[in-house]
Amino acid sequence: MEKGAKKLVILGAAESGTGAALLGLQQGWEVFVSDGGQIKDKFKTVLQQNGIAFEEGGHTTDVILSADCIVKSPGIPEKAEIMKMVRKAGIEVCSEIEFAYRYKGDSKIIAITGSNGKSTTTKLTWHIMKTAGYDVAMVGNIGFSFAWQIFEKPCAWYVIEVSSFQLDDIHYFKPDVAVLLNITPDHLDRYDYKFENYIASKFKITQNQNSDDYFVVNKDDAAIHNYLITHSIHAKTVFFTMDDNNITGDGGFVDNEHLHINFGGDEMITSIHDLTVKGRHNQYNSMAAGISGRIAHIRKEKIRESFESFEGLEHRLEYVATVRGIEFVNDSKGTNVNSVWFALESMTKPVILMLGGVDKGNDYTEILGLVREKVKAIVCLGTHNQPIHDFFENIVPQIVDTTSAKDAVLAAYALADKGDVVLLSPACASFDLFKNYEDRGQQFKEAVRNL
Ligand code: ADP
Repeated sequence: MEKGAKKLVILGAAESGTGAALLGLQQGWEVFVSDGGQIKDKFKTVLQQNGIAFEEGGHTTDVILSADCIVKSPGIPEKAEIMKMVRKAGIEVCSEIEFAYRYKGDSKIIAITGSNGKSTTTKLTWHIMKTAGYDVAMVGNIGFSFAWQIFEKPCAWYVIEVSSFQLDDIHYFKPDVAVLLNITPDHLDRYDYKFENYIASKFKITQNQNSDDYFVVNKDDAAIHNYLITHSIHAKTVFFTMDDNNITGDGGFVDNEHLHINFGGDEMITSIHDLTVKGRHNQYNSMAAGISGRIAHIRKEKIRESFESFEGLEHRLEYVATVRGIEFVNDSKGTNVNSVWFALESMTKPVILMLGGVDKGNDYTEILGLVREKVKAIVCLGTHNQPIHDFFENIVPQIVDTTSAKDAVLAAYALADKGDVVLLSPACASFDLFKNYEDRGQQFKEAVRNL
């Protein structure tokens, strides 16, 4: 440890916290990591191997309050006792992407946020850049820490999936290209149940941008539209839309089953049928990724080629199997009502819908029309299904309760006829019955394979 080094305290030792600790150490900080819970073995080993001091199962307040800078993991809410003390002491608090940003050198950043579609768009943008031969890393909320990447292998470009929690504590973070996909209510428990606070948090992605930078944004989103009426953006704004085929300057739109991307006076046109990922939402995601690629000077041919070779992500409208004419689709990552809307919208067969889990205060009004039109039966998969019964009892003829993926799949299979689709798109978090949404999706797929 350097003598007289500034003190960096990391709160929370998972992927982002451990990454920040490694980068901090490399950059000459005196680092201390404090986790109120138990630290996973894989992260503990890394801390030990690098000689980084840490504690778990509680916080030593006087050490934490002596910090010059605190990196707070995105999972820690402001209402946690330790955060109240930190705020009162007036210590600088950074999110991990903010901390990492300060050491990124002259690399360039494409940062992607939104309520839904972040991971898909991040991976597609990364895929486009990889296909074009760029030196690029995919980091952030998608599972790999930005700070860790800079510590281990700095790159010329970073495509970063950014959550609102990461944006809450940025100060200087300034992407060259910021993408805002959509804003619908989610995580409101962290924003005093005020949608406007969550919207403001999402827009922080562009707050430090200037006229050399690009802000790529959904023109059709009501919350975004309203915010833009009353706030000015300093970056060059590039819209993508499905409601307006009159975009003349830079931008993306869909017309007659073709996706158009205009940039720098050059037009690129792709049939929506050539996209490997299906559904309207993925046309939005593809426009956002394609525009970002064009801004990064990638040739149209490479972008088109990438659209056609993109493999998508597990647990997002993932086709599982067809058993006796009944199709099974795993959309376990559909953890809010808006993502279920897009899942249902893209279904062309009668649906047995699997809903339920930990409800974040869901209002199902948004999907009412599509449920009336397409859903034959609902299979609840959760421990508290009453809100689903209450909302849909007079709308969907059959609603059944289950508490395991196996029983849910058996129930859906019994309710379905040949030509139907069974869709797991739960609108809820998974923690009542599963470890996480991946576990829920895996168990669902396993149960389908055992039919
Ligand atoms: P995120 O990282 O923002 O959670 P994902 O790409 O993991 O987004 O997708 C999460 C869920 O949202 C999936 O159910 C997916 O099918 C759906 N989805 C993906 N893109 C969009 C979009 N642009 N609008 C609405 N829903 C989307």
